[in-house]
Amino acid sequence: MTELADAPSVTESEGEKRISHWIDGRTVAGESGRSGPLYEPARGRRQGSVDFASVEEVDRAVQSARAAFPAWRALSLAKRTELFFRIQALIDAHRDDFARLLVSEHGKVFTDAKGEVARGLEVVEYACGIPTLLKGGFSEQASTGIDVYSIRQPLGVVAGITPFNFPAMVPMWMWAPALACGNCFVLKPSEKDPSASLLTAELLKEAGVPDGVFNVVQGDKVAVDAILEHPGVSAVSFVGSTPIARYIYETGTKHGKRVKALGGAKNHMIVLPDADVDMAADAAVSAGYGSAGERCMAVSVVVAVGDVADALVDAIKERLPAVVVGDGMDPASEMGPLVTAEHRDKVAGYIESGAAQGATVVTDGRETAPENDGFFLGVTLLDNVTPEMDCYRDEIFGPVLSVVRAPTYDEAIRLIHENPYGNGAAIFTRDGGVARQFQFEVEAGMVGINVPIPVPVAYYSFGGWKASLFGDSHAYGPESVHFYTRGKVVTSRWPDPATSKVDLGFPQTR
Ligand code: NAD
Repeated sequence: MTELADAPSVTESEGEKRISHWIDGRTVAGESGRSGPLYEPARGRRQGSVDFASVEEVDRAVQSARAAFPAWRALSLAKRTELFFRIQALIDAHRDDFARLLVSEHGKVFTDAKGEVARGLEVVEYACGIPTLLKGGFSEQASTGIDVYSIRQPLGVVAGITPFNFPAMVPMWMWAPALACGNCFVLKPSEKDPSASLLTAELLKEAGVPDGVFNVVQGDKVAVDAILEHPGVSAVSFVGSTPIARYIYETGTKHGKRVKALGGAKNHMIVLPDADVDMAADAAVSAGYGSAGERCMAVSVVVAVGDVADALVDAIKERLPAVVVGDGMDPASEMGPLVTAEHRDKVAGYIESGAAQGATVVTDGRETAPENDGFFLGVTLLDNVTPEMDCYRDEIFGPVLSVVRAPTYDEAIRLIHENPYGNGAAIFTRDGGVARQFQFEVEAGMVGINVPIPVPVAYYSFGGWKASLFGDSHAYGPESVHFYTRGKVVTSRWPDPATSKVDLGFPQTR
């Protein structure tokens, strides 16, 4: 393997970027001979390649992390906190650099990309409070002369495997609490937009994080399987689609690892007849089409209850021409392209199948996409969708919003309960009693009341239910501190000073 010490982590030749690994504090060019293409979605062109790690390259990253672990876990909480404040300041200073990378490789618009960095940074800020978060319990005189206390200690080397849709933020959900708790980290980012992981690595080094504490291996299933099977990896965090989340959970736990795997979603937003229709329509548009619908918390299904349906569909439809689709660096753009041409075509296929299966195509995004080589699709609104249709059953992960009409609240909540996913769910109503009932009974991990995308703030934890989460631990917040540490309880007794044979040099009084 070639070490490119002091070289930029992204190298360029003949106008093409080459994205390599980051191991032991430096860029390491992959030598597996395998790589994947890196696209620029807004231009529909290839802009470079991503090295794919072999089993040996993953092993090298894990060995580097293992070697760094004893000193890292021994670093005092005070010093680790100081370091985290420096990390926070550096990421804060590089918000625009992160955002430009995200626009270039993911396609989301610049303001949205900055929003992603801001939400990730909140998790880093939470990690700055690690001395408080790691405080244990103490019971003095649990038995005569005996004290009992609990401490939480890091696991060792932990790994994160992340999706394409939040290439800066989702890794921050993982590495920030993991490192703050004293673990060393190996990140396997999405091969579709890997550059943010390398900027992160460079900033962590600049902040003073020792070599080996944070490593990045680029790649595909080969790298993922090498992580899952590696005896030196103690825990794996995953965020991605449900079939892969299930696979990660089953394979990782079979190899004795602690695993949390967040999966896909099909988020419903119920609108009751008493809701503020304008407020609900604004929410449906921003939550349905923001980031081109490529968010696990995007609203995918609007359930219009009773006679609100016609007014709501009209209100959403009338807002759609204002959603300007274009290059994410153009300040006029509100929605960018999809991540790849294949994904764009797959999403467009749901408009076709929806129409064929009986849905009403109110607005067809195939007709409004900018005419250029970018992976663009305009916004689509489907009405009269029913649960048997493919556009209802599958996670589309694109700018296609479906409206299902339900006669009553009970029917609306039944739809959510019968859906296999349980990530987010929202209700729009003016009735506090119904909202409270919804919060009580809805089967979803994150609930919005007149809030369409209820992503928890950094000091709560993020996670869904049912097929949206495998494992019992949610991401970031207090649950991440628990996930990235293991408990130890100490029972201690000391010789009674009054009967001690050792001369302590002062009178023994009790
Ligand atoms: P994905 O499942 O295709 O990929 C996620 C990661 O798994 C990537 O790093 C990828 O390289 C790896 N991977 C892909 N196929 C694999 C295989 N066969 N074996 C081993 N590893 C494999 O997901 P994606 O398309 O990158 O991201 C979109 C999905 O992520 C959507 O389903 C979305 O809902 C979900 N997501 C969920 C959350 C959440 O918090 N629940 C957040 C963001 C995204």
